[in-house]
Amino acid sequence: MKEMIKLASISKSFGNVVVIKNLNITIYQGEFLTMLGPSGCGKTTILRMIAGFEKPTSGEILLDEKPVHNLPPNKRKINTVFQNYALFPNMTVAENIAFGLKMAKVPKSERKKRVEAMLKLVQLEGYENRKLDQLSGGQKQRIAISRALVNQPQVLLLDEPLSALDLKLRKQMQIELKRLQRKLGITFVYVTHDQEEALMMSDRIAVMNKGHLEQIADPQTLYEKPGTRFVANFIGESNIFYGKVVETTDDLTKVVIENGYLAIKSSMKVSQNQTVNVVVRPEKIRLAETEIDHFHIPAKVSEHYYAGNVKKTVLKLQNGMELKMNTPSNQPLLPIGKDVFVYWDPMDAILVKSDSDKIFK
Ligand code: ATP
Repeated sequence: MKEMIKLASISKSFGNVVVIKNLNITIYQGEFLTMLGPSGCGKTTILRMIAGFEKPTSGEILLDEKPVHNLPPNKRKINTVFQNYALFPNMTVAENIAFGLKMAKVPKSERKKRVEAMLKLVQLEGYENRKLDQLSGGQKQRIAISRALVNQPQVLLLDEPLSALDLKLRKQMQIELKRLQRKLGITFVYVTHDQEEALMMSDRIAVMNKGHLEQIADPQTLYEKPGTRFVANFIGESNIFYGKVVETTDDLTKVVIENGYLAIKSSMKVSQNQTVNVVVRPEKIRLAETEIDHFHIPAKVSEHYYAGNVKKTVLKLQNGMELKMNTPSNQPLLPIGKDVFVYWDPMDAILVKSDSDKIFK
């Protein structure tokens, strides 16, 4: 695969505040890569450095294998779609889309052709002469994308482009954007703090935490094999236990959590007595009404919530910890207050590095 963007040992400080710490990421041609992380973790700063609006304090940015970190934004074959679209309100749709082409002195007839082609691509044919205030949020968003694509950039940067849309339109635009990206084969670098959006759209996701990269992987790997407690917590819902490794063999690790042993198959390298976190997704939690002869934890059913396709149950352990369990909506629930035994298939438990020496809560 061809390397399109390379961030090599990038750090960025504002004054003496370090906001990006030694970041190394390679983004490949045609890839949809998402930067995901909580507010303030540095996602926008990374995008602004790639675009050229911000200079890294140290490190190198390569575009198509050439260093660009000293070039101004207009000398990089990169366009950006901002959160608020940054469209010109008193220009028509066609004028907005053609703006960059006009600046680049592309002849009028060619501009017209390119605008028409873009409007066709985003399914807004015939909208050339509309004013911006005659458009819906989703249509404005498509115009912003058309404007960014019209001069055929190698890379498109998108900073939370769907955040202004209501939920239904956002879901629809997620599918449309992804379709467009696949069709055009342009490298997309996408910023969001919405993990569901990231999982659905991306080829790979870079999970950022306080200016450093926690993990970069495809969505399924991030969900099924989170590398750190932070990732397990941020991507999807998790139940996270502290535990201690009591036995390791080549492909099996035995960890003690709460009141029992638990065998776990994990690719993580662990040593005897190491403290670890054990992550169990809510859909993997099982309940027994009577005591069972393998690993289990006594608990009480404490709350139920209906969430459309799933029902959510909260289970309270004797030490006060609350577990989340999701079951398909068509399955009956046990009544609130009932004493139960919680268990799961040891193969469904995920081992991650612990962030402290604490063993039990
Ligand atoms: P959000 O999701 O809220 O947009 P983000 O992950 O995109 O957040 P950034 O906007 O990249 O985060 O900001 C990262 C950190 O850098 C924040 O602590 C922010 O306050 C700080 N920061 C960003 N720009 C500047 C600036 N020009 N001067 C000083 N500090 C800045």
